[in-house]
Amino acid sequence: MAVIGIMSALHEELAAVLAHMPDEQRVSVAGRDFWLGHWHGHAVVVVLSRIGKVAAATTATVLLERFRVDTLVFTGVAGGLGSDVRVGDVVVASGFVQHDMDASPLFPRHEVPLYGRAHFDAHADLSAQLAGASRRVLQEAERHLGHDTVDEFQLHAPEVHQGLVLSGDRFVSTGAESYALRQAWPAALAVEMEGAAVAQVCHDYAVPFAAVRTISDRADDTAHTDFNRFIREVASRYSLAILSQWLVGRQPG
Ligand code: SAH
Repeated sequence: MAVIGIMSALHEELAAVLAHMPDEQRVSVAGRDFWLGHWHGHAVVVVLSRIGKVAAATTATVLLERFRVDTLVFTGVAGGLGSDVRVGDVVVASGFVQHDMDASPLFPRHEVPLYGRAHFDAHADLSAQLAGASRRVLQEAERHLGHDTVDEFQLHAPEVHQGLVLSGDRFVSTGAESYALRQAWPAALAVEMEGAAVAQVCHDYAVPFAAVRTISDRADDTAHTDFNRFIREVASRYSLAILSQWLVGRQPG
């Protein structure tokens, strides 16, 4: 049977999914808890990677080697970069770049050494399925989040975007850094700290990978509401609803 891996960086991002899985069984490997179970008829392994590229790459490798997942989905939060990408929107990655990779002058800046590329694609079909599921969920944001949450976080017309996501080992929280990233990658929609690493691992193993990120901040100096509360009350619920919607529509393998 096909096995689907689902990973997030932060506990809050995954809380709703874990609370929902009916029959999970915990297996600890490399200091991580892998939760094995079933969801809408699919075999799934759910795991928290912790933050950053190395932690995410280790987690992805264990999912692929030990748990033999043949599809991997990352769900979490990210900072918005694109001018129309707002807090509460969802970004589905079409591809990833490590914005902090720089082995120049030996290799062109941002190129991952010995891969001959800076850019790693997300799996197109999988991403299209997740974008469809995200659109259906966001159309009914109020049903999933409740009226008060929609009002408080101003989530009245959330949108789904598909495009380039940047990853690096840095929480981007200044206007200057966000501006520099937008100058270097005008098409970038969002910035986070894990996606490109997982995409590289999945490229190595030729396993389909896609990522869905709820925008939690604008990656600049704007004071935003409590990050953890946003994740708990918005992003985590979006993750649950989007993944659930996606799995219901997917043929068990
Ligand atoms: N304040 C948090 C730290 C979160 S680190 C805490 O105390 O736990 C940020 C996490 O959210 C990373 O997993 C990253 O992928 C994502 N993220 C959200 N906004 C980001 C931004 N502006 N820059 C980089 N990563 C961001």
